[in-house]
Amino acid sequence: MTDSTPHRATAPPRRKAGRHRGEGQWAVGHFTPLNANEQVKKDDDGLNVRTRIETIYSRTGFHSIDPADLRGRMRWWGLYTQRKPGIDGGKTAVLAPEELDDEYFMLRVRIDGGRLTTAQLRVVGEVSQEFARGTADITDRQNIQYHWIRIEDVPEIWRRLEAVGLSTTEACGDTPRVILGSPVAGIAEDEIVDGTWAVEEIHRRVVGNPAFSNLPRKFKSAVSGSPLLDVAHEINDVAFVGVRHPEHGPGFDVWVGGGLSTNPRIGERLGAWVPLEEVPDVFEGVIGIFRDHGYRRLRNRARLKFLLADWGAERFRQVLEEEYLHRKLLDGPPPPQPLARWRDHVGVHRQQDGRFYVGFAPRVGRVDGATLTKIAELAESHGSQRVRTTAEQKMIVLDVPEDRVEPLVAGLEALDLRVSPSPFRRGTMACTGIEFCKLAIVETKARGAALVEELERRLPEFDEPLTININGCPNACARIQVADIGLKGQLVTDDAGRQVEGFQVHLGGALGLEAGFGRKVRGLKVTSDDLADYIERVLRRYLGRRADGERFAQW
Ligand code: SF4
Repeated sequence: MTDSTPHRATAPPRRKAGRHRGEGQWAVGHFTPLNANEQVKKDDDGLNVRTRIETIYSRTGFHSIDPADLRGRMRWWGLYTQRKPGIDGGKTAVLAPEELDDEYFMLRVRIDGGRLTTAQLRVVGEVSQEFARGTADITDRQNIQYHWIRIEDVPEIWRRLEAVGLSTTEACGDTPRVILGSPVAGIAEDEIVDGTWAVEEIHRRVVGNPAFSNLPRKFKSAVSGSPLLDVAHEINDVAFVGVRHPEHGPGFDVWVGGGLSTNPRIGERLGAWVPLEEVPDVFEGVIGIFRDHGYRRLRNRARLKFLLADWGAERFRQVLEEEYLHRKLLDGPPPPQPLARWRDHVGVHRQQDGRFYVGFAPRVGRVDGATLTKIAELAESHGSQRVRTTAEQKMIVLDVPEDRVEPLVAGLEALDLRVSPSPFRRGTMACTGIEFCKLAIVETKARGAALVEELERRLPEFDEPLTININGCPNACARIQVADIGLKGQLVTDDAGRQVEGFQVHLGGALGLEAGFGRKVRGLKVTSDDLADYIERVLRRYLGRRADGERFAQW
């Protein structure tokens, strides 16, 4: 879909007078921007930067880019400047943005529902090799990110991606970001309901639609009818989770107001049951509330979770029903407790139609263009034309005939893509980190990959599902607060008194129906060099003392 896709007419934001003027909500008539970000959005819609990229910046080069576009509106098309190489983490908070900016970009391809054909994956791989120095990371939001993108190449990259139905539209920015979806929607044997139609219809209605292109901040969403709760629904602004209503059958339970980063908050249930065909309407209602009532004065209070914290779920549902849907929602039950702890679909699984899907684990989400192209070829040569990305930085090949499963698995393993990975390979995620991210303080991807290898060597007997999430700064791109072991990058003091790269440790977080945040272990900071020793010690202690069936998070 591109910006030329037709959109359904949407009601303009409400303009009522009210008491909470101080938070900058449009719904109470607060249309004067209260900070620089709001001013940039008011001056010109982020979506409009595309024309300038195509007709001016791609011809006149990096240095001709208006700073308000460079560090603001270009995000509406998935573009961030990347970090200049060689700047250490100690300088992150000290240098001005222009000193941190490289002349290259990160470009995020949105993959709603993680749905890709092998033809699309082949193009993603080709673009990586031709324009991104081979880079391609699978993110924990089912996207694929390139690095080293030159502004001169962006129009051609868009042309190639859009020719196969992919886009970077609103992959970043204060917009409806990628809609997460169960990667096994429509094929899993244990599925409660297939949410594919809802993901596609929501995309059609809101992505690239100027009615929703100026939100207070980013808006994260998810739809899954899998009993594994495989889209981290607890930490999205809105999520629709499969559930069977005792009278009305399969449909979705609605969650709102989740989010990590500062002031992390698990989403709350509205207690409402929504059938598949009504999901897009409810989505539009929730994103409309966020646009109109969301706080815009302070960026760090501009996510939906802050409004929900003030309103509570009951009032939120009332406003949704009365002002946006103009009807009552049906009450419904919560989703059932998932039976498995891994939610990533790694391994070989039978589909509804008797064929198989094969999930596999790269190292900390890092692949490359050549590997993506090989995955597409491998899938096709074994009878598949569909692949998926997962919200756990993994991938899946769908529709594999039974007699092709074994050779496919062998082919994936030969590419170092593990179908039966160790718990460490399977459970370790890392954000982008200092290699490319301007906010980073420490290195993460290479550190994570080395950690996996080290733990596999030191603890081959470890058999428990375990998540180790590594962030390069206090933000939460790799979901540290909800990991068994969450590692927040910062500078720490080593034994010799030097400031070196290290991590603040959080232990015992979880997602699922026991969702909760890990506790920050007071004063516990570990240097990057000591990371493997520290985790080995913790895990050996756990192995030695765990009671029967006691999970790491419960220990
Ligand atoms: Fe960058 Fe920090 Fe996010 Fe990692 S957690 S990608 S370092 S902003």
